[in-house]
Amino acid sequence: MANYDYDLFVIGAGSGGVRAARLAALSGARVAVAEEHRVGGTCVIRGCVPKKFMVYASEFAHSAKVAEGYGWSESQASFDWKRFLAAKDREIARLSGIYVTNLNNAGAEVIHGRAKLVDAHTVEVEGKGVFTTEKVLIATGGRPWLPETLPGVEHAITSEEAFHLLELPKRIMIAGGGYIAVEFAGIFAGLGVDTTLVYRGANILRGFDDDVRAHVTDEMKKRGVKIVLGCQHERIEKTEACIVNHMNSGAAIETDLVMFATGRAPYTAGLGLEAAGVKLAENGAVAVDAYSKTSVENIWAVGDVTDRINLTPVAIREGAAFAQTEFYGNPTTFDHDMVASAVFSQPPVGSVGLSEADARHKHGKIDIYLSRFRPMKTTFYGGDERCLIKLVVEQGSERILGCHVVGPDAPEIIQMAAVALKMGVTKPQWDSTCAVHPTLAEELVTMREKHVPQGLGAAA
Ligand code: NDP
Repeated sequence: MANYDYDLFVIGAGSGGVRAARLAALSGARVAVAEEHRVGGTCVIRGCVPKKFMVYASEFAHSAKVAEGYGWSESQASFDWKRFLAAKDREIARLSGIYVTNLNNAGAEVIHGRAKLVDAHTVEVEGKGVFTTEKVLIATGGRPWLPETLPGVEHAITSEEAFHLLELPKRIMIAGGGYIAVEFAGIFAGLGVDTTLVYRGANILRGFDDDVRAHVTDEMKKRGVKIVLGCQHERIEKTEACIVNHMNSGAAIETDLVMFATGRAPYTAGLGLEAAGVKLAENGAVAVDAYSKTSVENIWAVGDVTDRINLTPVAIREGAAFAQTEFYGNPTTFDHDMVASAVFSQPPVGSVGLSEADARHKHGKIDIYLSRFRPMKTTFYGGDERCLIKLVVEQGSERILGCHVVGPDAPEIIQMAAVALKMGVTKPQWDSTCAVHPTLAEELVTMREKHVPQGLGAAA
């Protein structure tokens, strides 16, 4: 057997890489993890975690309005962006430190620097040296993608810069209609920025249930976000006074900051994958099998770089499954079915399973249970925000195929719904669960009347 420096060399200390490295090291393996930025990856450093702090920060303005309806006097509260950023950065540094400590405690070695494969068993880390390894795990995640040919796109920022703005703009235009665009639109609008979201399609959040998409659009508008649909960007022009976004409709939006949230691409550039013989899929992602193994016998890949389901908990489970398989003699795959997700829009979305349109397509006959209502907290103060709760049920088997919630705490609610759907719950079993009163979620188990849609759920 060859004498390698390490049993496992992980490239990328994000969610998937760190979990795999820790588990492998705890098995007694000699593990190194290379990271070119800070340990923690997209989720901790420039994604989910700081984003959620920004969502929290931005929700207080709305809460203050609600508070008045509950008897509080109008307050003169003001928001200090710089103070928030400093607090956010302190917390991110603390969390990143915990990741490093956990890796060290598990016995994995963190090597700071940019790594690339020299061949299938050799990794070079810039400024640190060349190391040999029996196995390699690629966990380099993704990077924001922008339409590079769009004239003036260099004037746009991405979510990465949005976490470090020196000051809040008066106006922002956000391009895209996915998770990041919708979440940041809510954040900026909540923080008092005049926010316009421009999306090329007929409705935002493609891939989500059509009722959810329409509902979120309406509710975001109620919170002051301007949403422009069906528009493509033609050019971005920077003038002395502002930035102008010209669209194919002939309209132009004047703004102070343009942010593109037009997707993320697998981060494989300069990794030396060709040198090692690792094959990429057509979309540029590292191609892997169910065990996350690449086309090369001793190289695996997990997380966003494989572009399966690009969510932190999925990367963690893929990393854990890899470690179980390779270091504990326990062949494990992660089941990518029925993975719940949340959009931290305002109001937020929680969703698991199939949309109505996908369920019709895959299962034919389905029943829909749908409820739109004003939650009691809103009714009390006379607000007009509405929640949406929807179940998609297969006729015959009565199995619940999809559950969708829009409203306060939807991400918390959907986690528990996901347990039941993953277990294959039927509507009668679901309905036999007694409600918790008074809650928003009780509506989930009290919907008895089938909803008859006006025409079938239109696919995007
Ligand atoms: P998404 O893939 O979710 O959305 C990209 C958006 O950009 C879509 O609306 C897409 O339109 C639009 N778009 C793509 N290309 C162009 C173009 N050339 N011109 C105009 N619009 C364009 O990516 P995000 O960047 O929002 O997020 C990346 C990933 O990160 C997500 O897929 C998600 O997995 C993950 N994420 C998860 C979060 C969570 O769990 N809460 C939060 C943030 C990110 P179209 O729909 O027409 O393709």
